[in-house]
Amino acid sequence: MHLISMHGLKTFFKMGVFFLVLSGCTTNLATGEKQFTAFMPAEQEAKIGAENHQAILDEFGYYEGATIQAYVNNIGQKIAKHTERDDVKYTFTVVDSPVVNAFAVPGGYIYISRGLMALANDEAELASVIGHEIGHITARHSAQQQSQGVLANLGLAALSIATDAPAALGQAASLGADLYLKSYSRKHEHQADELGIRYLYRAGYNPSASAEFLEQLEAEGNLNALIEGKNANAVPEYFSTHPITTDRIDRTIQLAANYPLQSTDDKKVTYFSTIDGIVYGESPRNGYVRGQDFIHTELGFKFSFPEGYKISNLPTQVVGQSSNSVMVFDGAKKEAGQSIQDYLINVWLKNRSDYAVPETITVNGMPAVTTSFSALASGKTRTTRIIAIAFDNTQVYRFAIQTANPPPATILTDLKRATYSFKKLSAAEKAQYKPKRIKVFAAKAGDTVASLAARIPFDDHKEQRFRVLNGLSARDTIQPNKLYKTIVE
Ligand SMILES: [Zn+2]
Repeated sequence: MHLISMHGLKTFFKMGVFFLVLSGCTTNLATGEKQFTAFMPAEQEAKIGAENHQAILDEFGYYEGATIQAYVNNIGQKIAKHTERDDVKYTFTVVDSPVVNAFAVPGGYIYISRGLMALANDEAELASVIGHEIGHITARHSAQQQSQGVLANLGLAALSIATDAPAALGQAASLGADLYLKSYSRKHEHQADELGIRYLYRAGYNPSASAEFLEQLEAEGNLNALIEGKNANAVPEYFSTHPITTDRIDRTIQLAANYPLQSTDDKKVTYFSTIDGIVYGESPRNGYVRGQDFIHTELGFKFSFPEGYKISNLPTQVVGQSSNSVMVFDGAKKEAGQSIQDYLINVWLKNRSDYAVPETITVNGMPAVTTSFSALASGKTRTTRIIAIAFDNTQVYRFAIQTANPPPATILTDLKRATYSFKKLSAAEKAQYKPKRIKVFAAKAGDTVASLAARIPFDDHKEQRFRVLNGLSARDTIQPNKLYKTIVE
C-alpha cells in the first residue's frame, strides 16, 4: 500500500462518466471493422489520458529508473510508428508494481509493470507485450471497458477512504486480492494479438516472441497457483485483464507463422543489461509483507497480523483475512490540530450514528481512538471494530476489523494484539529492510538449476521459481557462459 491522492481518484470517476455518454460509428483502420461502441475523437482521448496519467502513477507508482524508462519508451515509439493510427501520441511508462501486468489507457498511454520487466527474457518478448497493448489502442477496444476496469480497480480504495466501513469491508472480504482490472473479451484479445504480431514484425522483431511470452506468462500463472495460499501478493494480474488459454497460444503461433522469419536476434543481451538490478517483489513504496508482519520503511511503521491471517498488500490498503474475520489497514489525513476523536466522529464516521461511545487509547505512545458498530453484510450481522491512530499532526492510520457477531473472545484478543503492535520504525529498523533485486550473471561450467536456485532468497519452490524466471522448461539445463537471471536480497 501507499498513500493516494483523492484528487486522482476523483478524476478517474469523472472519466468513467465521460465514456458512458459518448458514442459514435466509424470504420477502424486497424481492424477494418465498423465500430458502434462508445468512443470519442482522438483529441478527447488524449485529454482524458493526460488527465488520468497522474492518477495512474499515484495508484501504481512511477518506477525510478531513467535507463529502463527510456529503454521501454524507445521500443514503444519504434513499434508505434508501424500502426494504422497516426492521431495518437504514445507514452510508455514502467510502473512500480511487483505484479506481472501491462495495460493501455485511451490517449496512447501504455503501462508496463516492473514485475513484467523482470519476467521477460529478451527485448522481443517485451516488444510483443507493447505491440499487444498498442493493438488494444489502435483497435479502440472498448475505452468504456477499460475505464470501468480501472474504476473497478480503484473502487475498493475509494470506498475505503470514504468509509462507511461496512461497505468497504464487505467488498474487501468478498473480493480480497482478486480485485483487479476487468477482462477484455476473447475477441478483443485475439484482435490485439493479431495487431501486436503485425506491429512486432513491422518493427523488425521475430513475431514468434509473442507466443514465447504467452508461454512464459502461463508458466508464471502455474507457479503462482503452486505458491497460492502462501503468498497472496503474487496475484498474476495480467491474466485477469488478458486471459491466456492454450487456444490463444496456439493461435498466436499460427499468426506468427504467416510472417517470414526476419530476425534471429531477440536482443537478450541488451535486455538483460537493462533490467540488471531492477527491484523484484515488494519495494519500499509498496511496503513489505514478511511472515505476519507488514513493514513500511518509507511511511515509517510496522505492525503484525494475527497468526493464520492471509495478507494481501493492495495498492492503497493492506488486507488480512482469516476464515471468520477480515482486517483492513489504510492511511488517511486529518486537519492539523484536529484531535483524533474529532477526526473519528466528524470525518471517518460522519455518516453514522449507531456506534458505541468512542474510547480513547494510546498505541505505542500515539493517541488513538476506537469504537464499534454492528451492520448487515451479505445477509449476516457482523461486528465492525475500528481504530484510528494519530501518527503525526496530519497523518492517520486506521484499522477496520469485521468479525462474526458476537465476536469470539479469542479473535478479539488476537485483533487487539495486532492493532497494539502498530509502531513507528527507528532509522536503524528502517535500514534493516531492503527490496529484492534481479541480478544477471553468466553461468559457469558445473552450474545446475538446483545449485543456482538454492541461492535465491525464498523458502519454497526455489527450482520452479528459478526456471520460470528464466523461461526454462522442466527439461532445460544450464548452458555455461549463457546469461541468466537470479534474485538477490
Ligand atoms: Zn490484451
